[in-house]
Amino acid sequence: MSGNGQREGISFDQVLGFTVAERNVRGRLVRLGPVLDTILTAHAYPPALRHVLAEALVLTALMGSLLKSAESQMTLQIQAQNGVVDLLVCDYRAGELRGYARHDAAGLARLGNNPGLGALFGEGYVAVTFDVGETGQRYQGIVPLEGHSLSAACESYFHQSEQIPTLIRVAVRSGPEGCVAAGMLAQHLPEGEEGRERLHVRMDDPDWEHIAALGGSIRHDELLDPNLTMEDLTWRLFHEEREIRVIAGPHLSRGCRCSADYYRSVLARFPAEEREHMRGDDGQIAVDCAFCSRIFQIEL
Ligand SMILES: [Zn+2]
Repeated sequence: MSGNGQREGISFDQVLGFTVAERNVRGRLVRLGPVLDTILTAHAYPPALRHVLAEALVLTALMGSLLKSAESQMTLQIQAQNGVVDLLVCDYRAGELRGYARHDAAGLARLGNNPGLGALFGEGYVAVTFDVGETGQRYQGIVPLEGHSLSAACESYFHQSEQIPTLIRVAVRSGPEGCVAAGMLAQHLPEGEEGRERLHVRMDDPDWEHIAALGGSIRHDELLDPNLTMEDLTWRLFHEEREIRVIAGPHLSRGCRCSADYYRSVLARFPAEEREHMRGDDGQIAVDCAFCSRIFQIEL
């Protein structure tokens, strides 16, 4: 924090880590501003879809920033049926975020501006995947898309798949000047060490109950308040605690791995005969990057 009382602009597109060591709690705060607009602008989605993708991107930044190495990746994927969105994918790697949603535009228009999660997705599930770069290991958990928000579904991912009591809050505000979104994740690591197997999980652990009550009191307007830094917000929530540590996390940007070279190398692995079937009339192969809403014409 700056000591002279001057605010150096609010920390958008930034992650802040925090720990309450005495209670074995770690957390993340995230605020997305320009990066969100950059991602959303590529797609020209209607407001309801922008809103849900913004929430998914905050969740992706919160969970992805739990990863330690730049080679690791976190992917949040929703697959659904009987709604108007059948696929939503976001991922995070080394501070880079991207995301898109595949949807039926006419069906979405009929739902108006404020459809619930059920109307948007119908029935589906949320898959959370951590690809750990150093070890090449992949951890995936799948939970039903239930409850009133994606945040609730991600909380249940941690409870059910990882047995880690977790609290998540996300706020999204869209306006004519753009979209901002923010979130907080706090979780209890009862063994005090990350990465250790947790044999006994207690949702009613008094340390966790205490932190969950404090963290759960956070309001949407606080998460998004441009006059409140994320550090200030952490102190406001947990000032009763003896020791809170905050750690500046990665800066967030929009990033995609698509490039003509990348697709050329992927296509080169297909048998020549299969590639012939993919070619258009001009002899090129069209490849669509859904994250960028962009089509690459590959000559090969
Ligand atoms: Zn792309």
